[in-house]
Amino acid sequence: MFGPPGSGKGTQAKLLKNHLGWPHISTGDMLREHVQAQDELGIEIAAVMKSGQLVGDDLANRLVETRLERPDVEAGLILDGYPRTVQQAAWMSKLLDRKDFRPVVAHLKVDYNKIVARLSGRRVCPQCGALYSLAFNPPRVSELCDNDGSRLMIRDDDREEIIRRRLEAYDRQTLPVLGYIRDAGISYHEVEATDGAPARIAQRICEILPE
Ligand code: ADP
Repeated sequence: MFGPPGSGKGTQAKLLKNHLGWPHISTGDMLREHVQAQDELGIEIAAVMKSGQLVGDDLANRLVETRLERPDVEAGLILDGYPRTVQQAAWMSKLLDRKDFRPVVAHLKVDYNKIVARLSGRRVCPQCGALYSLAFNPPRVSELCDNDGSRLMIRDDDREEIIRRRLEAYDRQTLPVLGYIRDAGISYHEVEATDGAPARIAQRICEILPE
């Protein structure tokens, strides 16, 4: 899943996971697990994420490499938020080649003006990770998770000035990955994701997957 922060990669990855039965591998979620554990690495990561910057390539690469060693990825997997730099893209290619996996890239195209509005209304359940949007997909009871009743939270990096910094990091460090994808001849598809129900967008993504 490729696209700017707030393009709905996480939402789409979760829908596809249910539909295809493939694991959803999100570097953002894995990093947040470290932050919650409050270990030494977690404290370092928290500072970087809060500032809207990217964590180092070595760390992101290592997280994904370790995750791909688990047997549940054999039928297929959904990568969300990785690769985010050209260096990560090269690493990903090597990892997938080794397993004889062929990546298909879905680039979620979203109007930037919509992104800030979307992300600043975003809420997340600290317990189960469910995502809500106050404008588009609010919880049934205000501020409480539909699944487990936990009080919803705003991610530290979903504040407006930080969102703008994340978009800058995306433009500068992540957009060049598109050049890598093109040069490497990786299967690439643009998916219009500004409007429309998440289920409809998920359908468009399923259409680009090989039989
Ligand atoms: P979003 O796509 O909405 O920005 P994520 O949960 O994917 O949300 O990422 C949140 C933050 O985690 C990023 O702003 C960055 O600091 C860090 N991060 C996630 N994935 C990577 C990665 N592959 N490389 C570097 N940093 C990452």
